[in-house]
Amino acid sequence: MQYSELSPRIKKVYAQVRYLDDYHWELTGERIEGTHKKSNVRVTIDVAKDREEAEKLAEKGTQGGIRIIAIPDKSVFFIHNGVFILTYRYLKATLADINDHIVWSGFRVVEEENALIQEDFYEYLGGSLVNHLKNNMLAGQDYVFWQFYKCEKCGKYVDVENLESHLRDHGIKLHEKSEERYEVFEINFRDGKVYDKYGNEVKKNAFSNEAAEFIKEILSGAPPE
Ligand SMILES: [Zn+2]
Repeated sequence: MQYSELSPRIKKVYAQVRYLDDYHWELTGERIEGTHKKSNVRVTIDVAKDREEAEKLAEKGTQGGIRIIAIPDKSVFFIHNGVFILTYRYLKATLADINDHIVWSGFRVVEEENALIQEDFYEYLGGSLVNHLKNNMLAGQDYVFWQFYKCEKCGKYVDVENLESHLRDHGIKLHEKSEERYEVFEINFRDGKVYDKYGNEVKKNAFSNEAAEFIKEILSGAPPE
């Protein structure tokens, strides 16, 4: 298949997304398949001629990963059956929003033939994304995502910055760990609360003292860098 053989509408849609280098793109005839480079989260983009056709296509659901159906109609943006249906022009911003909601959540070191390889874990926070879109919330301004580690000794959540000293107090050496998994929470500036990825509030007493202090500081002042 040659580029010139693609339909004009696929080319038009592809022209909207090809500058986003957080994704790797493949064109398979009538479909654009994206892979978020860091996390390998898959995004498929279908193209429909109008809203009606898009809704029909969306009946099949998301088919795993993130599914977007782009249409030429102006000013359309909604979610149907878990599928984003939107105007061509909104693609870029939406893919950037999706990128903001794929968050690092830990690593492990695995043995390969000649070396130890670090594997990173990422989480796609789709529920939060929908919520942020609905409420017009901007990353850095209305909320930030932050990684918290559930301490194996006391069961409290510790923010990643304070983890080393927290574990040291329990007699645990952080540098001896070859794997760390974090929960990604949303620190919400609008209502001064912390939420887990399902949108449930994480209460103050679930955090270690240092982490509670850290959250208080963030909520009272400027968002962290
Ligand atoms: Zn602890």
